[in-house]
Order: sequence, then structure tokens, then C-alpha cells
Amino acid sequence: MSIKAYNPVIYQKLGDIGAQSKVITRQDIDGLGKIIVKHGYGNHVCVVIAHRHFDLDDSEVMYEVVDSDRRISQPRPLFDILAEKAQPNLLSCSLDGFWYPVGYEESAEVLPAWNDKIFLAEAAKYLINANLVDKLAIASRRSADLKNDGIVFVEENLSASRKSIVRPTSPKEMIGIDAIPTTYAFTINGTVNEESCVVCVCIVNDQTGHSK
Ligand SMILES: [Zn+2]
Repeated sequence: MSIKAYNPVIYQKLGDIGAQSKVITRQDIDGLGKIIVKHGYGNHVCVVIAHRHFDLDDSEVMYEVVDSDRRISQPRPLFDILAEKAQPNLLSCSLDGFWYPVGYEESAEVLPAWNDKIFLAEAAKYLINANLVDKLAIASRRSADLKNDGIVFVEENLSASRKSIVRPTSPKEMIGIDAIPTTYAFTINGTVNEESCVVCVCIVNDQTGHSK
């Protein structure tokens, strides 16, 4: 694999979504999206505003499993999940241009994009040159089909259990909810017309304390 081993320091450096979202522009996001589309990964890789919601012990990682139409992430010991079917689903770039996993998902096969050194190098170069390494990350995209039907995804973060739940919902249900767009997917229309859209939002969970 072209990406580095898990490093808890990289996870800990992920910022607060409220602050991060204010300093990111659509141009920043689209610039990375163009590279994803150019390399043919529009249906498999998306752009995420780099952030985390929970503190983890150095031995823990966020691990996502699919439960019906929901994707549920919660801390698991890295040692345990690497013995199972775990692959990185979220990568963060370091200042020296290396990609590190900052989240994992239940999957038997590594995403081809994560083995594509040319793609990863070009994406890293873009983030370094634009001073965005700590602001944008790349993630595996698992919801391309549903998104095409106009469904939006909401991510709820539960502080007490350190659990993130991503579920499909309707734009109508989101009206009046204080949600921050975090995830942008790109599709190819004919030539290189990229089109980004929100597929995931974060809700600050006031019931169980603060959410980062
Ligand atoms: Zn989030």
C-alpha cells in the first residue's frame, strides 16, 4: 500500500469542524475534486473537510461498519481491527506529502485509489502548495447510488459513546437543523465538468456535551 501506517499524532491534529469549515472555500474543495475526477476516482473517493469529533487513546481508531442503510463509526483497538477485514476509509496528508489513515472501515479490499501513487502524489502536492494539508482530507465514497436519487446524508455525533452515525435523510428533514456540510463528491459529466454536492453533515449534539 502506498499509504503510511496509522499514527495517532495525525489523528489528534485533526481540527474542529466549526473552525475548519470557516476557512475552507469551494475553490479549495473543487481543486482537489478536479484531481480526483482526472484520475477516474469520482465514484470512489470524495473530499472531506478534515475534522474529528472525539478524543481517542493512542491504541484506538475510528472504525466504521455498515448497518442496513446506516454507517456507524466508533473507537476500536487498532490491533483488533487489523486482524479483521479493515481498510482505511479516511486519509490525511502530512506536511511532507505522506498520506496517513485517520479512520477505517470494514472492507476486505483496499480501495484502488489508495494504491495509486501518482494520484496520491498529485493530491498531496496540491494540498501542500495551497496550504491545505490540515484542512482537507480524502475519503472512500460508499453512497454514490443513493446520492443520485436526491438523498442527503446526515452524520450524528454522540459524545458519550463516541459514536458517529451517518444515515440517509431528505433535504426537508434538514430544514432548521444546525448542520455543517463536510463531504463533497464529484461526478463526471461528459468532459471534465465536476459537480460537487453535500453528502454528509455534522450535527452538534447538545444532549451529551460538546461536539468538536
Ligand atoms: Zn463530522
